[in-house]
Amino acid sequence: MSDWERASTARVLPPARPRKLAKVPFVELADGRVQGVVSSGSDIGRVYVSSVAASTYEFACSTNNNRPCGGARGMFCNHILALLNESTLQYGAERVARYLRVEVAEPTAQAISQTMSATRPSQGDNTAAASVFSQFLRHLAYLEFEASTAPVPELQWFPPTRAVV
Ligand SMILES: [Zn+2]
Repeated sequence: MSDWERASTARVLPPARPRKLAKVPFVELADGRVQGVVSSGSDIGRVYVSSVAASTYEFACSTNNNRPCGGARGMFCNHILALLNESTLQYGAERVARYLRVEVAEPTAQAISQTMSATRPSQGDNTAAASVFSQFLRHLAYLEFEASTAPVPELQWFPPTRAVV
């Protein structure tokens, strides 16, 4: 069993407490790609793992069960567009444009995705999907932890340590 198959059998959310996932619950600029997880909108247990590479703009999109995305045939699907949009909200459009090496006069999510689409980028295998998806699961676990953790007053006794230069 590959890592990917193992990861795909993991539940995205505990079934006892279903809640709505954000449209794009996880996005990062890493490994020369804008990559992340986009919820399907219709099925809470299904998410898409999407990515676009810097320079080549090679893109990939598949479900957490490793099914190819029907929308990503020869062009960016809605998941990739949502991912790019979220990345500009989180990191700023200028930084995303710089990272992907997209030359646009006025960086916006739309300008970035249009400029990349115009080069007719190729669609690649979603080879990083397994690791992106497991990072997403870790990210979710962290959010659950954050939500249930009250401030720890004891820690206030420890002054911030000064960095030794
Ligand atoms: Zn897609």
